Amino acid sequence: MLMIQDIAQLRALIRQWRSAGERVAFVPTMGNLHQGHLQLVDTAKQRADRVIVSIFVNPMQFGPHEDLDKYPRTLEQDCKGLTEHGADAVFTPTPAIIYPRGLDVQTYVEVPLLGDYHCGASRAGHFRGVSTIVTKLFNLVQPDIACFGQKDYQQLAIIRQMVTDLSMPIEIIGVPTTRAEDGLALSSRNGYLTAEQRVTAPVLYRTLQWMKQQLNQGCPDLRALEQQAKDTLNAAGFNADYVNISNRQTLVPATDATAPLVILAAAYLGTTRLIDNIEV
Ligand code: AMP
Repeated sequence: MLMIQDIAQLRALIRQWRSAGERVAFVPTMGNLHQGHLQLVDTAKQRADRVIVSIFVNPMQFGPHEDLDKYPRTLEQDCKGLTEHGADAVFTPTPAIIYPRGLDVQTYVEVPLLGDYHCGASRAGHFRGVSTIVTKLFNLVQPDIACFGQKDYQQLAIIRQMVTDLSMPIEIIGVPTTRAEDGLALSSRNGYLTAEQRVTAPVLYRTLQWMKQQLNQGCPDLRALEQQAKDTLNAAGFNADYVNISNRQTLVPATDATAPLVILAAAYLGTTRLIDNIEV
């Protein structure tokens, strides 16, 4: 597997693949790769001739009091996993390569409306940082397809909208969430959990499954159900940030249960923020 930091080298590699008529798949990540990330690589590999993964802890998508500095960086181990899963190249730029003029003067991309609720409401500027870095990486890699996890449901919806709105010639593939045996969605942030918190963590997904069951049985009061779920989480030791039953297309909180729904949730265990979702 090729390791690339430099933009000129990246562009030369992509040109070489393209001139050989090869189809290129791209998997953007922040590293500290787990089976969920590697599932994206496997999906990419099934659908293209070449797979390139980026590892970049994007400072633009972290708030001032978030975990940018302590975010786990495990490049050597990540490269081992990527090699085993047959990735052709990994692009590992530095912040100075991506943002040479600094973040304050960086042109940005912002998708309206889809970021108004959920993580967009709790993390000001987060999705602007995501849309901007994904646009930059798409312009650098120019892939035919790109794979994203359904675990980050709102992010996936925003990327799909951005690609449509900006006429980017890239097919976006959503990959189902990879979970631990007890249901916890795999996440790089799970590594922050203490042993005791790790035991509590699956309550998040179990609560979403319970809500889905209630909705399928015709539960009429969506707001009351959301509140019950938050109470369950808080009683288990979480500090619930949001639990929202939303319209699957618009991601606006649903007023009734007729449209296709998704339940999106975020909750803190100590200082660790976990997110998850379930379609109904
Ligand atoms: P991250 O490194 O957290 O930015 O994630 C990089 C990509 O991996 C994103 O598209 C995520 O949605 C996806 N991803 C993260 N965790 C999982 C998981 N448990 N299952 C599937 N995809 C995931």
